[in-house]
Amino acid sequence: MCSTLSRPESDDHLHDECGIFSVFGHPEAATLTYLGLYALQHRGQEGAGIVACDDGNLNVHRGVGLVSDVFKAHKMRRLRGDIAVGHTRYSTFGTSQLKNVQPLVVDYARGSMALGHNGNLVNAGVLRERLEEDGAIFQSTTDSEVIIQLIARSKEERFVDTVIDALSHVVGAYCVLATNGTEVVAARDPLGVRPLWIGRLKDAYVFASESCALDIIDAEWLREVEPGEVVVATRDGLECFKPFESRKPRMCIFEFVYIARPDSVIFGRSVDEVRKRLGRNLAKYDSLEADIVMAVPDSSNQAALGYSHGSGIPFDMGYIRNHYVGRTFIEPDQRIRDFGVKIKLNPARSAIEGKKIVLIDDSIVRGTTGRKIIKMLRRCNVKEVHFRISSPPIINSCYYGIDTPKREKLIASNMDVKQICDYLDVDSLRFQTVEDLVEATGYSSDNFCLACFNNEYPTPVPKDFECRKANVKRHVDTSTEEYERVPVDVPEDA
Ligand code: AMP
Repeated sequence: MCSTLSRPESDDHLHDECGIFSVFGHPEAATLTYLGLYALQHRGQEGAGIVACDDGNLNVHRGVGLVSDVFKAHKMRRLRGDIAVGHTRYSTFGTSQLKNVQPLVVDYARGSMALGHNGNLVNAGVLRERLEEDGAIFQSTTDSEVIIQLIARSKEERFVDTVIDALSHVVGAYCVLATNGTEVVAARDPLGVRPLWIGRLKDAYVFASESCALDIIDAEWLREVEPGEVVVATRDGLECFKPFESRKPRMCIFEFVYIARPDSVIFGRSVDEVRKRLGRNLAKYDSLEADIVMAVPDSSNQAALGYSHGSGIPFDMGYIRNHYVGRTFIEPDQRIRDFGVKIKLNPARSAIEGKKIVLIDDSIVRGTTGRKIIKMLRRCNVKEVHFRISSPPIINSCYYGIDTPKREKLIASNMDVKQICDYLDVDSLRFQTVEDLVEATGYSSDNFCLACFNNEYPTPVPKDFECRKANVKRHVDTSTEEYERVPVDVPEDA
């Protein structure tokens, strides 16, 4: 009779990070921001928020869950004003309670401000400790609140200068959208780890993590915010600053592999094209006589198509993905085999039965997904499974905004390719090389952060990063706890 509530992507996985979006100077700023967040939902499904600014007053609505769950028509009506900043969140730092959902909004000596952040600061723990020793009181456990505290303490005059001042203290990855109710400041860290776009809709300016979010509101793509650039939208137009010492960019290559949507252009490249090239690169080493190439949908569809184009082996949809999986699902106590994966993916038997298959996935983290989905294929009597991964083995954690498990839990840091092949029960396994991964982007390797693959972090990472992160757990407010849905009993024979 009894049932439990689970997260569909149980914590076996690494998670995406966040999406940010803002509109300056449009009477429907909040509604446009809602649509922008909808397009950025893939970057975070844990919570969402919009702050709208009406004559300098900030109106905010935030909630845990998907964008469509959080914003209802009656809530949207209250978000008046022609400036809005929005955020979709997956926690990479801090727990998943309402208090951590962004944009963070505060009232301080100069009025009110709101801030949304995508990325992860590696020195947030150190800065937070210093600020707390100095009497600061934190309302959330996010690293982003450190930026807010630093802005509030800045002695600079203009809002944009207070933001620049604050950011000059932080190390790590950030794309930030901040507003004081009259202007919007957009900033990208000097390494340019995460993407950030500037768009235009009639007289309004728009900022978005990915170009797909500009498309949804028919905004014109102006350009990407440059690494280390700060752009401020005011009633007089856009002003651009380059306040930080310039550095060689270190864009996150995993944005191309998995995180960004394939219909986006980020870092000057089409994600769709890069992923197809990743597939072609994998195909060039193979001379398999397989019947079909199939993807682990959806993130590997383009790489599988690329492999198919490169190898001449036909692409087929061997797995069907259920797109309607929400934040939580009711899991019967009587365990159904591989329930977590099955709720998302199911094999299309007629497409795969008795066939030799090339299966493409974008990455292997702990190996959990691979093991389960290959078991599902085997149950459908496939003849052979040749597993091809469009990224190299992930051997290190990310400290810049992707919530990777610790090194010990990463399968490729504990097993060699042969061992992983046996563990997953595949006939052969090949990963992308780092060289081919970089080649697919058309850039050289020194433009990227490749730390998860090669251990070369672009900034120093404090040795105690993980334990500081753990220590930041403070009080838990159960009235705003995340998984609020009432468990529904399912019949025993379910
Ligand atoms: P694992 O099951 O731990 O080996 O994780 C690999 C699977 O997780 C692959 O199917 C990926 O598509 C997926 N994946 C990769 N990166 C992420 C991420 N940042 N968030 C959620 N899932 C991811």
